[in-house]
Amino acid sequence: MTTQEIIPIIGSGPAGTASAMNLLRYGFQPLIIERDSFPRFHIGESLTTECVDALNRLGLQAQLAALSAPGKKGVRIFSRHPENSFYVGAGDAWQVERARFDSMMLDTAVERGAHHLQGSARKLVFEDGHWRVDVETADGSTRQIASRFVIDASGQQRFSQRQGLIGPLQEGRYARQIAFFSQFEGVTRELSDAWDTLIFHRDMHEWCWMIPLSEQVTSIGLVLPVETWKQDKQSVDEFLDTRLAEFSAPLALRLSSARRVGPVRTVSNYSYRIEPYASRGLFCVGDSHRFIDPIFSFGVEFAVVEAEYVGKAIQACSGLDTAAWSAHIDNYLRITTEAQNVIDDMLQYFWAYPWGFANMAHVRFREEFLEIFAGRLYESGEGEGLRRMRDTLANDRDSDRRQSASPH
Ligand code: FAD
Repeated sequence: MTTQEIIPIIGSGPAGTASAMNLLRYGFQPLIIERDSFPRFHIGESLTTECVDALNRLGLQAQLAALSAPGKKGVRIFSRHPENSFYVGAGDAWQVERARFDSMMLDTAVERGAHHLQGSARKLVFEDGHWRVDVETADGSTRQIASRFVIDASGQQRFSQRQGLIGPLQEGRYARQIAFFSQFEGVTRELSDAWDTLIFHRDMHEWCWMIPLSEQVTSIGLVLPVETWKQDKQSVDEFLDTRLAEFSAPLALRLSSARRVGPVRTVSNYSYRIEPYASRGLFCVGDSHRFIDPIFSFGVEFAVVEAEYVGKAIQACSGLDTAAWSAHIDNYLRITTEAQNVIDDMLQYFWAYPWGFANMAHVRFREEFLEIFAGRLYESGEGEGLRRMRDTLANDRDSDRRQSASPH
């Protein structure tokens, strides 16, 4: 291995900074390129147990504790009717304000030896067996960095895919959705689930989240099909306020004394899948290659656990001739794809059969789904509950195919 080999990382969200910390452990010199100045707002505040375990494996216990973020024990899922709720414990996890969390991650990576370059990656090319990233720096100059390896952690910007280097991109199942979110004070919290993530769902793909960020502040969001929003003529503020008020009884109960204390932000059309997402020493991590419905909060986990696997893959490749890299690249792709598929399939089943899902996850296969909700998704094999869900989805697809093939 060439020690202190520079490895550029595009983006300093959790995928980029966790990748940097993993590379440092193997003796590489990560160079994190970030276009935004931190701290900056980011959505994605509810972490899973496995996500926190991966952060602990990076030795971040003290830094996480210093955030004084509320602990999260589980997720309560409500349908339209308050009596139809169920709870899934998630072990010990956290709810974090991402501006503070992402800054902590970047500061720690830099303290440990990562370089940080403020600027926008503009171009990525493969020439003479090396990658070259062109970065437009904050002062307007261009810097070029050459390396055998490069990590794309550019999130929803999908830098490598837009450069035509990986792909193709497939629209995800939740692509035509829009999320509205803001911060609120004065939310009524039930003692039993005061610090949990609360999910309220009703019609297909329509849901809200409630994530306590401190004693006073709660993050609340509303997700629904983008067409529903387009048909409405209200401003985003009015739309969020009126839709939250009428969404469901259990949500209205908690909002009776609440007031919005932050701007309303939106994000839309965010679900996609890009395959393959690693090749010739270029690795995509986190949102830069796939984004599923965020309802059960696995995004940051995908980012930080994939960062572990990318560290291992680059370490394994670095001592080998490039001809021998493909086994390690394929291994990275297989393990990370299988983990994301668990959530993709589980969600598809949840939306198709909400009552069946509650029964499977809460009653029949409770232990298995506790593990899934905790985020034990990597190299864990397929349990009986998940297998049954997948069988049902496969049967549905078969019957759809038969119906569309039969003459009317
Ligand atoms: P990001 O965090 O987006 O970081 C990418 C970084 O790359 C950014 O800082 C960006 O500025 C930088 N960048 C992009 N392009 C360039 C460039 N060309 N040059 C330099 N820098 C660049 N996840 C959870 O775990 N829990 C939740 O509760 C949750 N809720 C969500 C709710 C919604 C509505 C949505 C949309 C997402 C939610 N997520 C949640 C998902 C979570 O936000 C993401 O999965 C997570 O932030 C992915 O991390 P990342 O590092 O891959 O990308």
